[in-house]
Amino acid sequence: MKRIAVFPGSFDPVTKGHESIIRRSLNLFDKLIIALGENDQKQSYFTLEQRLGWLHELFGREQKIEIIQYNGLTVELCRLNAARYIVRGLRTSADFEFERGIGQMNKLMVPDIETVFLLCEPEYASLSSSIVRDILRHGGNVSMFIPEGISIYK
Ligand code: ADP
Repeated sequence: MKRIAVFPGSFDPVTKGHESIIRRSLNLFDKLIIALGENDQKQSYFTLEQRLGWLHELFGREQKIEIIQYNGLTVELCRLNAARYIVRGLRTSADFEFERGIGQMNKLMVPDIETVFLLCEPEYASLSSSIVRDILRHGGNVSMFIPEGISIYK
């Protein structure tokens, strides 16, 4: 059976931290679905089109990757796509506590889906989309935090 995984996120914007998790996941799974979740409670900084566009520029040519947008429960998205794994990156113990709650609730809802956590690479431990947005708001240069080959300036 093919090992299909979902990597959900808001990618607002995509960073080198996300890219690293995605590339490392390709060694573990037969197919990776990068799922851009639209959260009703969270107003995004970049538009859906921009965020999807960058993901397509970076990973659109990769055979094992599919890029989609979704609303609703990640476990439901997994069910619809026959995915049995959810991939998440862990940077800090705060990430762990947050992810533990979601991962265990998901496990109660759909026992045969496993959440797989990848420890982030040390150089990306402090990197987050929210810090990148803060730097941008104040006119700073974020290019060192963004994957090579895309430009996220508005
Ligand atoms: P969400 O709103 O779902 O947290 P994000 O786009 O912020 O969406 O993050 C998506 C996933 O990428 C999460 O699992 C997050 O922990 C992971 N991630 C974000 N930044 C990094 C990083 N610097 N290193 C490793 N994983 C990261």
